Amino acid sequence: MTAFIAPGATLGVMGGGQLGRMFVHAAQRMGYFTAVLDPDPASPAGLVAHHHIKCDYLDEQGLAQLMQRCAAVTTEFENVPAAALMTLGAHRPVAPGADAVAICQDRAAEKAQFVRCGVPCAPHALIETPEQLAAVAADLLPGILKTARLGYDGKGQLRVRTRDELGSAWATLKQAPCVLEKLLPLAYEVSVIVARSADAAVVHFPLQQNLHRDGVLAVTQVPSPDLTPAVQQRAIDAAERVAQSMAYVGVLCVEFFVLADGAVVANEMAPRPHNSGHYSVDACDLSQFELQVRAMTGAPLRAPRLHSPAVMLNLLGDLWFRDGGERETAPPWQDVLALPGAHLHLYGKATARRGRKMGHLTLTAATLDEARRTASQAAALLGIDAFREGG
Ligand code: ATP
Ligand code: MG
Repeated sequence: MTAFIAPGATLGVMGGGQLGRMFVHAAQRMGYFTAVLDPDPASPAGLVAHHHIKCDYLDEQGLAQLMQRCAAVTTEFENVPAAALMTLGAHRPVAPGADAVAICQDRAAEKAQFVRCGVPCAPHALIETPEQLAAVAADLLPGILKTARLGYDGKGQLRVRTRDELGSAWATLKQAPCVLEKLLPLAYEVSVIVARSADAAVVHFPLQQNLHRDGVLAVTQVPSPDLTPAVQQRAIDAAERVAQSMAYVGVLCVEFFVLADGAVVANEMAPRPHNSGHYSVDACDLSQFELQVRAMTGAPLRAPRLHSPAVMLNLLGDLWFRDGGERETAPPWQDVLALPGAHLHLYGKATARRGRKMGHLTLTAATLDEARRTASQAAALLGIDAFREGG
């Protein structure tokens, strides 16, 4: 068991995006100092951390500096080179560890891990060679071809209906190692965020119900409006099994598809706090970022309690270009902030781009219906359709 790292110590984060920023906020509030390693001088977390080491993730001097400053290190994005986490892990507690992150970096390894844990996932085939492409079983079509590595927010994936489309999609993805997944008829999507400590205690958040548009998370609702207790228990059990199987330390998110018959199918996992857990900052008595701090410092984990139903709307860069032109116009924040229970989070990104995650808005209320109503009002002010599915 790791010794407790008390407030006053410095905690390090690999990566300086918005997840790192919210981790830094939580750690600072608890009295820790923070250091971020990210090459971008204007990274969202780098802007708010006590120390910002601006270098590449594999830069030896930078990693040495991070180790020298920090009592423990975590990561905020799954594509941090596993080699960097290995280097750090030889000298400092690193949570999650390099092995678990390496599994989550590779869709094929991730699916193999689900299978090992007895957690169902979509029928799929690995495509690394033209022979494997030719041998794909007909019942995997229509499907989604996904690059095995480096995909996120729907990037690196293409929907294919026929063998011809599959061939050209693989060419478009530059014949990178891919996983072809059967396209499943989703009733809805949920995610489970768990936190596991070094001494194998596991706690979980209430399930989030998620709506994606164009492969990107758009809306999260908690509690999930469609979930039955049986489905909920199945998903929680599966996520906890996966965390235990990897001897995982830290916050882990597992995304699930729920099919019409109530079957729960694991989609993918993220070895870090997750976009679908951002609501926890405003709606739970412990946020996913606080639990990350607790897990990596060896503090006791406590099950978080949802104190307010919540709807989270992701704020993508598109909202800054609502007039259709090239000029950035800030959304009407004053009107949005006039709504009851509106919590605005902006990540400090200097320029908006279409599809870029600029922030999120969490609406909390006494009931989910009420939170949904204010979310619809907020969405109307922002020019988006809160609960439309698509993409
Ligand atoms: P992120 O990292 O942002 O979660 P990603 O790029 O890794 O996204 P996935 O989670 O694999 O992508 O897929 C994005 C979305 O596409 C899913 O949430 C789901 O809505 C849809 N999708 C993916 N795979 C399937 C499938 N096999 N059947 C039906 N829909 C799917
Ligand atoms: Mg996903």
